[in-house]
Amino acid sequence: MNETSAALFDTLKQGLANIDRNGLRRRRRIADTACAAHMTVDGREIIGFASNDYLGLAAHETLREALAEGARKYGAGSGGSHLLGGHSRAHAKLEDDLAAFSGGFVNQARALYFSTGYMANLATLTTLGALGTSGGRDTLMFCDALNHASLIDGARLSRADIRIYPHADAGALDAMLDASRNEGGAKIIVTDSVFSMDGDIAPLARLLEIAERYGAWLVVDDAHGFGVLGPQGRGALAEAALRSPHLVYVGTLGKAAGVSGAFVIAHETVIEWFVQRARPYIFTTASVPAVAHAVSASLRIIGGEEGDARRAHLATLIDSTRAILKRTQWLPVDSHTAVQPLIIGSNEKTLQLAAALDEHRMWVPAIRPPTVPVGTSRLRISLSAAHSHEDLAALDQALQTLSNRS
Ligand SMILES: *Cc1c(COP(=O)(O)O)cnc(C)c1O
Repeated sequence: MNETSAALFDTLKQGLANIDRNGLRRRRRIADTACAAHMTVDGREIIGFASNDYLGLAAHETLREALAEGARKYGAGSGGSHLLGGHSRAHAKLEDDLAAFSGGFVNQARALYFSTGYMANLATLTTLGALGTSGGRDTLMFCDALNHASLIDGARLSRADIRIYPHADAGALDAMLDASRNEGGAKIIVTDSVFSMDGDIAPLARLLEIAERYGAWLVVDDAHGFGVLGPQGRGALAEAALRSPHLVYVGTLGKAAGVSGAFVIAHETVIEWFVQRARPYIFTTASVPAVAHAVSASLRIIGGEEGDARRAHLATLIDSTRAILKRTQWLPVDSHTAVQPLIIGSNEKTLQLAAALDEHRMWVPAIRPPTVPVGTSRLRISLSAAHSHEDLAALDQALQTLSNRS
């Protein structure tokens, strides 16, 4: 390596050294077996509390079969983007299934399927306000301070004027919209439903009332609610019994649905606009059709008796975990969802605890900045219907031992 190329690498090495100094190095663990409560990771058997597989469907026999059947029927790859040859019957059917399942919040609901939730959020935020001669530069976007990174990136990429409101603070949002009455073009309010690192739920009814009063869109990212919340797991909007043409709903399919992909549901006019204009939809190869085929099978489980049984079991696990976390010396977040954070504080201490839990053969990830605010590093215990109460008893014992020791 000559001197000028070495200089390039020096900068990166300094950056990595900084990450280490701040206790922020992340490493990837290798799962040797399917995602499940008991799995082999880096060659060791552990109890996993790290996945978003809330209903325990990722390794479900029916979905494995559906994936294989889809591959036999539609092949391995889609062959192209949705607008140029890659849109298969499996994708089209899934969109109809999704609109029928979770589209009850709007008349003439239509769904659009994406490869990932990250792309669905980029598409939604870059496309919804991109009208008129400004191409969206005069759009005002009001974003919850704790929104998911993909919503933050979508907002940035949209070139809209971004205004951050304090977390879940509908009063503050109302005041901000009031102050901007005579400004801008389209107005868009953007929020997670269940916040991914805290597990709390946005005040959706109040946000919608505000959106309707000011003529704004309300984009709700239900990545952690779809499949889990609401009757039959139809999601956070169904749970809150909200209905409005102002709503744009994003759900993801790699979490509770146990497969992969994401979708947007809105009034059909919104979706048709997305098909014509959303670059993260148009300029990418359509996902493997077999995946869409498997998601359709997943929806049948989620919406059926088995889904109800899994959600009921998950609810008992959530109650037990809340009690367990309260008995430790650390600070649980008041969460009634499958995301159960335990705030430790410093990066170092959080990492130490995660390592100690690993010695107990439990995988509980340490969540650190920039994913969460500085000083609020936490263990993120994520529950799945695949867990048993014995799994929780093991977690309880390990946590109380560590809590008494430190
Ligand atoms: C996981 C997640 C996403 C991204 O979804 P992927 O399908 O994993 O890309 C978007 N929003 C939230 C709130 C998430 O938790």
